Amino acid sequence: MQDLVERDQQENKASQERPRKWTNTHQLIKLNLIWWKDNQIIVARDNDLKRGVIHSFHNKPSTRHPGISNTYRLARWDTWWPNMKQNIKQYVKGCATCQANKVNTGPLKPAMILITLEHTLPFQTVAMDFITKLPQSRKYNTILTIMDHDCSKAAIFIPCQEAISMEEVTRLLLKYLYP
Ligand SMILES: [Zn+2]
Repeated sequence: MQDLVERDQQENKASQERPRKWTNTHQLIKLNLIWWKDNQIIVARDNDLKRGVIHSFHNKPSTRHPGISNTYRLARWDTWWPNMKQNIKQYVKGCATCQANKVNTGPLKPAMILITLEHTLPFQTVAMDFITKLPQSRKYNTILTIMDHDCSKAAIFIPCQEAISMEEVTRLLLKYLYP
């Protein structure tokens, strides 16, 4: 792998020039026409070469698809380029073998619920119930309970009559929830 990176630096003019820009923010050295960062050779070429480098560390039969941090550790031992960790993360996340072999050790997580604006407001989704057969209190014998199903879990209790009509419920909802 090092030969390939070295040859790229020697044969590719852009790969010779590019690390010069990186010296503004990184301590790089040029030895015998090859760019280094400490003991690591600089991978200066485009994404294809970087992918090849990552592939060589990640897909080696001896390492058997290590995770992101281990792949990074292996690659960082010999090579360096800016955003290396980010590139490795993307590569491993996109590795079909890794995805297929992923073992789910933790408990199943519930599916992600898309939170929409209306669901973040209180009393957008409500559960209604009636508490009936209560002792008559003035003209009421039933309590209509309205529970906010989403964010607040707040509840509203409205006295009413057991023989309440749907129109009456609607009227109460409008009166208490959306005054
Ligand atoms: Zn993999």
